[in-house]
Amino acid sequence: MTCILVIEDELAIREMIVFTLERDGYEILLAGRVDEAEKIIQNFLPDIILLDWMLPDRPGIDFLHQLKKHPQTSRLPVIILTAKSESHNKVVGLDAGADDYITKPFSPNVLLARIRAVMRRSSGQMPVDEFVEIAGLRLDTSNHQITVISSAQVLELGPTEFKLLEFFMTHPNKVFSRSSMLDHIWGQSIYLEERTVDVHINRLRKILKPFNKESLVQTIRGVGYRFSEV
Ligand code: CA
Repeated sequence: MTCILVIEDELAIREMIVFTLERDGYEILLAGRVDEAEKIIQNFLPDIILLDWMLPDRPGIDFLHQLKKHPQTSRLPVIILTAKSESHNKVVGLDAGADDYITKPFSPNVLLARIRAVMRRSSGQMPVDEFVEIAGLRLDTSNHQITVISSAQVLELGPTEFKLLEFFMTHPNKVFSRSSMLDHIWGQSIYLEERTVDVHINRLRKILKPFNKESLVQTIRGVGYRFSEV
């Protein structure tokens, strides 16, 4: 059974979420504050987290950063909930590693569709303990690290840069358009401008540069990007 941790302090929204998810057969854990959520997670890891942006004790984004920092929780799918007036938070949240973003008020059907999409994406990830070695880099999916093999140095990647490089390393030598990269890496259910891809590509190249690996990420003019050794 899929277990969802719902971290939300607004009673009406909580009730709607609980009603919708229970009816659909999900198991639910509830927290109204970040410290409550922390206690729950210490004892039990849910399959997915719905995280409100504004919580009474700490901002949801703080908790998201915390989850992404720890190997045990870094791969937990997180969907952020925020009010429409805070929609600028979308990019910040996704940048911090959230899997998706839902604007309040939302309908039960939207909620269920987003959860299913995120679950599909996360179950499509490679099994734990798998390694991918390519172009002198080693991807370790169990600890969420990418290492430069020759020097055994771990790359210091932000969550999005990690996803991007992970995607490239598992899809080498193929050209991807910006919009297909947005679909693959950020998910089809969200809208982001294509230049978001360029921003993260530039950051990734900067991280790879000290290791002389920035040329692996190639710009294919008029099309998009490719990860290739040649
Ligand atoms: Ca709130």
